[in-house]
Amino acid sequence: MKSRSTNGVKIGLECHAQLLTKSKLFCPCSTDYHNSEPNTHVCATCLGLPGALPVVNERAIRYGIKVALALGCEVQEEIIFYRKNYYYPDLPRGFQITQYDFPIALNGLVRIESVSDGDGGKEREIRIRRVHMEEDPGRLVYKGTIDTAKYSLVDYNRSGIPLVEIVTEPDLRSPKEARIFLGKLRSILGYLGVFDGDLEGAMRVDANISVGGGERAEVKNISSYKGVERALSFEITRQKNLLRRGLGVKQETRHYDEVRGITLSMRTKEFEHDYRYFPEPDLVPIRISDLVEEIRKEIPELPDEKKERFVSQYSITREHANALTFDRDIANFYEEVASKINTGLCATWVADVLKGELNYRAISMREASKRISAVDFVAILNHLKRGVITERGATEIIREMLDRGGKPDEIVRKKELASIGSTEIEKAVLAVIKENKDAVEDYKAGKKEALNFLVGQVMKKTRGRAEPKEVTEMLKEKIESRILGKF
Ligand code: ZN
Ligand code: MN
Repeated sequence: MKSRSTNGVKIGLECHAQLLTKSKLFCPCSTDYHNSEPNTHVCATCLGLPGALPVVNERAIRYGIKVALALGCEVQEEIIFYRKNYYYPDLPRGFQITQYDFPIALNGLVRIESVSDGDGGKEREIRIRRVHMEEDPGRLVYKGTIDTAKYSLVDYNRSGIPLVEIVTEPDLRSPKEARIFLGKLRSILGYLGVFDGDLEGAMRVDANISVGGGERAEVKNISSYKGVERALSFEITRQKNLLRRGLGVKQETRHYDEVRGITLSMRTKEFEHDYRYFPEPDLVPIRISDLVEEIRKEIPELPDEKKERFVSQYSITREHANALTFDRDIANFYEEVASKINTGLCATWVADVLKGELNYRAISMREASKRISAVDFVAILNHLKRGVITERGATEIIREMLDRGGKPDEIVRKKELASIGSTEIEKAVLAVIKENKDAVEDYKAGKKEALNFLVGQVMKKTRGRAEPKEVTEMLKEKIESRILGKF
């Protein structure tokens, strides 16, 4: 594969995503650990008590296959669970049940937007090495930071939650690209309905990073999307500094400290043979190839296909199609609105305005749709089209609905958002010219910013009920006619 490897940064990710099954991977305990007191969903199996036997959750395996298919992987004939032996307080059995030689799938591909400027619309291909299933260990909680805490607390509610682990080839070239990749992965898994990216810690990432062909360090415990970019940037700088000083990079495992945004050495990297992988004797091999065709039929239209369809069906830009298809709920909302109104106008208002307002408030479309329905949105855009309200007014309605609820018409009345006519705009324009002689002189002298200032003053006077374009034109006209009048 051709790559734009400018500074020799190579990043490979191991992404662990919690699957949305009701029960754990090898026992019937509930997976609902986000809303529960610690250590309330536990049993002999997920506590690792001697003699407890695992039983495989079929739905989890089906979800894993679904993920593998959506990532374009080759699903294997048969899977075998292995024991990965290591000791850690979050792993009471002394081994994790995971997969090794016979994972669910191999060789997939994920397309992401290119991060380089100037090649908008271009894509990069990130190869997926493998997809496998494993159980989550318990959750360790430190008071303070890992290296200063006096003790750690452990919550075994998480122990045994099914994870699908997605391992990439070292194809990522920058922290930003890694973040974009994770976003895409989150988007795809969300479409499948097997994953909820909004849940805290639902995706956890280990990253392998090397610089300039040197040894790689593994950074563990990255548990947020923001964290990925930060952890990788820190690690790259650390490695570059070592190389600059002529010191080698050690192959080691490092812990990411989210609070301080740094990585800390945990241990020199263990090698695969240290884990003494061997087939889990309490589970039989499972033939999965027979399930594949059935599961393939359950796969919905995925973000890439949806994006292509949006571009051709709705004649919107790729940027808009991209923004609209990232989240399935937003895509559905757009399609509902676009079926009733100009598709381009609607793309601008959903992708640019509504999405911006959601991001600003950190709420999901699912959350927002309780306050603003597609029908409401169509009503707002219709008012805008007919000149009943201005763009400013439309934005105001959206904000009000998200923050306090209410219906469009009611908000137009309550907040007096109805657009004003040309006569009223003219009044405001003349008043502003009178009150801001200096700015008018500046504009006459050729200062373009002065005009913006004047427009702003008129907008303020009319409380945003005039279209800025009309105001601008009128201001220019009035000032120019005065110039003509003078000479
Ligand atoms: Zn259990
Ligand atoms: Mn793993």
